[in-house]
Amino acid sequence: MILGEGFQLTFTDFSEFKSAVQVFMDRQSSLDRWNIFNKSYQIKDKSKIVVDSYNRLYLNLSSNEEIRVVIYINYQKFPEHFFSPANIFPENLNRYHIYKCPSVEKLLQQNDKHIVATAKKDGGFHYKFLSSTNKLMFETNNQHLYICRYCLAEFNKKYNSDLSPENFNINFYLEN
Ligand SMILES: [Zn+2]
Repeated sequence: MILGEGFQLTFTDFSEFKSAVQVFMDRQSSLDRWNIFNKSYQIKDKSKIVVDSYNRLYLNLSSNEEIRVVIYINYQKFPEHFFSPANIFPENLNRYHIYKCPSVEKLLQQNDKHIVATAKKDGGFHYKFLSSTNKLMFETNNQHLYICRYCLAEFNKKYNSDLSPENFNINFYLEN
């Protein structure tokens, strides 16, 4: 009798197990969302990047939510003895992409853990500066970056505008 009760207890509620898995997936999705909107999200599975009919980039989350993003490589190498945060200029750094331009097609074929997506709207990008031996020298969540030239040309054509990398604002893309 006692053994029987114990056996029953172990197998009473399979649905609770399923909901525990669901809770874990929901937590992962909300962590991913936080990184996308506040920092940067490492694109591990390149098939999660999709485009719409305007060639704009979206990240498909495990919750099946699609978030419009920009894509970029979030690090730069510098010789250690030359590096100073005061010597960082956006024209020397990786540019961000708003469309699936030829550079993005190449990026999506690479296996670089620094290829990231973001939907952070304040114009400050998460970025790392590494020495030639991969030592982290400086990390910021507020790096000014320029838009890719291919992407800007496509944007200017689509919107009949004449913006330069200096006066393009990420919100022209994320909020339209
Ligand atoms: Zn581009």
